[in-house]
Amino acid sequence: MNILFVSPEVFPFAKTGGLADVAGALPEAIARKGHKASVILPYYQLVKKNGFKPVMFKKNISVRINNRDEIFNLLLLKHNEVDVYFIEKNEYYDREFLYGTPQGDYADNAFRFGFYAKAILASIPLIGRQDVFHCNDWQSGLLPLYIKLHHKDDPLFRGAKILYTIHNMAYQGLFMKDVVPYLDISWDLFNQAGVEFWDKLSFMKTGIVFSDAISTVSRGYAKEILTPEFGCGLDGLLKTREKDLYGIINGVDYSVWNPGTDRFIAKKYDENSLKGKMECKKDLADAIGIKFDAKRPILGMITRLAEQKGIDLVVNIMKDILKDCNFVILGFGEEKYNNIFQDLAKKYKGKVGVSIKFDNALSHKIEAGSDMFLMPSRYEPCGLNQMYSLKYATVPVVRAVGGLDDTIQNFNPVTKKGNGFKFKDATNEAFLGAIKDAVAVFKNKKLWDGLLKNCLTCDYSWESSAEQYLKLYKNL
Ligand code: ADP
Repeated sequence: MNILFVSPEVFPFAKTGGLADVAGALPEAIARKGHKASVILPYYQLVKKNGFKPVMFKKNISVRINNRDEIFNLLLLKHNEVDVYFIEKNEYYDREFLYGTPQGDYADNAFRFGFYAKAILASIPLIGRQDVFHCNDWQSGLLPLYIKLHHKDDPLFRGAKILYTIHNMAYQGLFMKDVVPYLDISWDLFNQAGVEFWDKLSFMKTGIVFSDAISTVSRGYAKEILTPEFGCGLDGLLKTREKDLYGIINGVDYSVWNPGTDRFIAKKYDENSLKGKMECKKDLADAIGIKFDAKRPILGMITRLAEQKGIDLVVNIMKDILKDCNFVILGFGEEKYNNIFQDLAKKYKGKVGVSIKFDNALSHKIEAGSDMFLMPSRYEPCGLNQMYSLKYATVPVVRAVGGLDDTIQNFNPVTKKGNGFKFKDATNEAFLGAIKDAVAVFKNKKLWDGLLKNCLTCDYSWESSAEQYLKLYKNL
């Protein structure tokens, strides 16, 4: 099969969150199974900053959008068996951030990602017919509509199937309806059964309506999004498509996330000996500016600083956490949280380490150097860091939602089963309770070692998830 992954971010070229990790690893896993996998994304400034130099594949391709002809260049980079195509259109993508600044989204995102879909259509004659378009998140939402309506008689698209994967229901790509005609969408579709969401144009809803199947990134989240609490207003629509809705858990790219080979950490270690982990703990303490104390657990976080991640809970219980533990966070996002954490680092100097930026190397140091990893998310479609943490013998403390609930089982000191600590209610008390349980086990070396062993035997490699995707493509 020929499969084109349509993802607005792809690791290692441009990343803001988990979607990039998925779009980096899944196509490679599919290619390893003998299929032709390609990826297509905008040529952001970040791709250049990250040192990648794709070559010109075709210059000056013309696209009709917004009532005028626009042109772009298509670039190509061959990366680990996967063809990675970049859409070069500097007026849209040569900016500091991918989707917006810490103050808010870019105002022209409807055109930036409408153009993205149109440019993909214009690229197909050049890169070849695809059996499956695997679209991801709102940024790719218009492509299914364009394929199904505008190209239904085009032999290049005949028989092509579309899978639309939702990585986060809360980011839907909602825009004022004035943009509808400029994106070549007929007003006939601007209604409840079509692309409208409360008088706005919804890219995500468009993706859901016009795709052959929909998936999301854990079984738990696939069930949750059918409810008003997690469906973000699209639960009703998703219910009508329940038979086409699948939940496939993300995998881990162990060639990237593996303390045995990790080039960013102070000392490599693996399941046979965790000796190097203490050196990593010391290195992390130095790197982020806290006092090293072997006996005090370091609680780590790496996260987008957004409401979703439950960071308000972390802030609320900080004083209590610091009685027994130190805390480090690498985060970037909403300005108010950026400021709150910087203030906490000043207030609790030596015990709280804060880094407000996006830093891949430091994220690896935190996975390796922390004793526990906190994910108190309000909702979590899949979550990746809890799975990375297992591999680094860093015990996850998570809220029992979505993919976190699917991948982490609460440790029971009597049966000695479980790979982390889980709490149910999004309350300070419940969260603190789980951390206290973790600290109690940490103090009992024998129990803790047993727990680490449980963590290290978990296998979340892409193999089985890639198999599930392939099965789904074939069924389509
Ligand atoms: P989400 O996609 O909702 O942000 P995930 O848990 O699915 O959350 O994935 C987050 C990914 O982004 C992980 O690979 C994590 O390590 C990474 N990440 C998040 N924030 C940062 C940051 N400030 N610096 C480096 N990596 C980060």
